[in-house]
Amino acid sequence: MLTLVALLLTAFASPAISCSESSWITFSRSCLGPPQVWEARPSPGKGIGVYATRVIEPGDTILSEPAMIHITPPEFRDGVAYPLGDINTLLQSSFDALSPEQKTEVMSLHAHMSPSEDANDTLMAIMRSNAYTTGNSLGLFPKGARINHSCRPSTSQYWNPQTGRRIVYANRRIEEGEEIFATYIPLLYSHEARQRRLDQYGFKCTCEACAQEQEARQASDQRRQDLQKAFVAFEPQLTLSVPQSVVGKRKARKNAEASVQLVEQLEEEGLADYYVKAYHIAAIAHARIEDWKPATLWANKGFETSLLADPNARSTGARELQALTNHLIIKWNEELRENMTRHG
Ligand SMILES: [Zn+2]
Repeated sequence: MLTLVALLLTAFASPAISCSESSWITFSRSCLGPPQVWEARPSPGKGIGVYATRVIEPGDTILSEPAMIHITPPEFRDGVAYPLGDINTLLQSSFDALSPEQKTEVMSLHAHMSPSEDANDTLMAIMRSNAYTTGNSLGLFPKGARINHSCRPSTSQYWNPQTGRRIVYANRRIEEGEEIFATYIPLLYSHEARQRRLDQYGFKCTCEACAQEQEARQASDQRRQDLQKAFVAFEPQLTLSVPQSVVGKRKARKNAEASVQLVEQLEEEGLADYYVKAYHIAAIAHARIEDWKPATLWANKGFETSLLADPNARSTGARELQALTNHLIIKWNEELRENMTRHG
């Protein structure tokens, strides 16, 4: 029962108030941002890299950075070529407004140029090689841009539109002195397919997943492709309705088992960006066989993990998981009460 009480507390707890919401009276030291836990220094074969200066725990913020350049490109219209000229003008005027120190910082970033480009295109190439989408806009975050890519990254990131900052946080424990990695691409693809996508950044990936012995790499490739297929296969089954037919029930039991395998394979591959989705699937798959305890625990795990990227549970995804956890707790509680009545 202790677990259930703890869960009730988690699921009903109101999200913490963020610094942007606190008044000057409640302004605390924590609102000054976390102490710097990283340093940029040369990384063998990769130019500059970002390293942990102390142990960083899962969920710890590594960087909280406003965009130095922030542009909203004109809306993309079907059948009309993307107005590159307009973007260039926006980019140039944003750059011109920066201080000399900021300009130096931007121009020191890596730019992967195509053979047809010349020095006049450097700013555009820097943007293309380093910018992140922030809602409908594009932002350049020079500190975060120093973090190198890995197909098994130790950080995840999100854009907080309320504070206007991009947050990079640890998705697992990072040791002191360890290089910190992010991903530049979606990761449920084979090594070759990932490399093709990374060509646009102009480097060959030598991360721990890509540098494995052939056999281990093939196993990793297979897992990633299987995971991609499993996500697609589970998509139409994300409903709480309990199947009534014998065949339906048998299939649902198999799916519940498969959902646990999905989580295990993801954790084995270290693909933290997909955990919330997998925990959600496992919760629903167990609810469909009315196995309320694991269903509740998976939903709550999904909710707690989603808070890492969304501490105030503002997103639809986080709110859905919170509501699902609360719904499942009630179901689990009913089951416990029924069992007690039956045995008491
Ligand atoms: Zn790689």
